[in-house]
Amino acid sequence: MYTASRALYRYKARIPARSYLSLFTPLPSSTILLRAMSDSSRTKSDSEWQAILSPEQFRVLRQKGTERPGTGKYEKTKADGVYTCAACETPLYKSTTKFDSGCGWPAFFDAIPGAVSRHEDSSFGMTRIEITCTACGGHLGHVFKGEGFKNPIDERHCVNSVSLNFVDENGQVDKSS
Ligand SMILES: [Zn+2]
Repeated sequence: MYTASRALYRYKARIPARSYLSLFTPLPSSTILLRAMSDSSRTKSDSEWQAILSPEQFRVLRQKGTERPGTGKYEKTKADGVYTCAACETPLYKSTTKFDSGCGWPAFFDAIPGAVSRHEDSSFGMTRIEITCTACGGHLGHVFKGEGFKNPIDERHCVNSVSLNFVDENGQVDKSS
């Protein structure tokens, strides 16, 4: 008996008490719940989105609508900063990639890497590339290629202003609606 308990003592001594415990103790349910909440914080039901978005934001971001050209707040802005998703606040575009396309909506030639996802969109008898916020799935607009704009990659991310907010260099948040 003496030998066995001494061996156990040596075994325990090699492993700090906390990690020894964590080998055998399941995660507390509160930890699991917190993880589930953070995973779902960017994907909500329609009624949850309606509670935090304006009707126009809901129509564009969640129902893939389009704001009327020339009506959006950020069509012609040139200030330095970052445009974030109006639904989930993920940074999507830097002002350094914004250009004046004259099309009636804010235009960017590139997104922050990974922030924007592309999907084929065959609605309205056209084949277009829809862009969405990778984090929350919110509809942003479409990407058009090869239009001859003098920007580094000749792409135009045509984004609804209402899908965006703007954060200036000092961290001041400006909301599109
Ligand atoms: Zn988002």
